[in-house]
Amino acid sequence: MDTQAAQAMTDDEWKQKLTPEQYHVLREKGTEVPSTGQLLHNEAAGEYTCAACGTVLFKSDTKYESTIPGLIGWPSFADVAYDAQGQPAVILQDDDSLGMMRVEAMCRNCGSHLGHLFPDDSSPTGQHYCINSVALDFQKSE
Ligand SMILES: [Zn+2]
Repeated sequence: MDTQAAQAMTDDEWKQKLTPEQYHVLREKGTEVPSTGQLLHNEAAGEYTCAACGTVLFKSDTKYESTIPGLIGWPSFADVAYDAQGQPAVILQDDDSLGMMRVEAMCRNCGSHLGHLFPDDSSPTGQHYCINSVALDFQKSE
């Protein structure tokens, strides 16, 4: 789905396309219950795509297992995927909801909520993209 099509989608159309849990996370900025995601411990090589629009968001070579308490329980990535022009597939914005200052990670293409970005000493880049498994689909490498 291209950007124009994704941004023209109404709430009702998203509800029809997504499962109730996907809709809650992606379109209502929800958070899945920790340690429940199907992709949490996925170690296969491949690409993680946006469950809403299909854009490649993360690659398996940046997935890692964080050791920081409080950040364990969701798939962790040290970096995002970049398109052919070098643009990151994930955009960031400040999020001060729930009385916390956090950085929200969203799909650049469709604007759906994915998770948050945190500093993390156990990450190879020092950055921890803490992403809801339900916001992602996985395309295994051939
Ligand atoms: Zn998307």
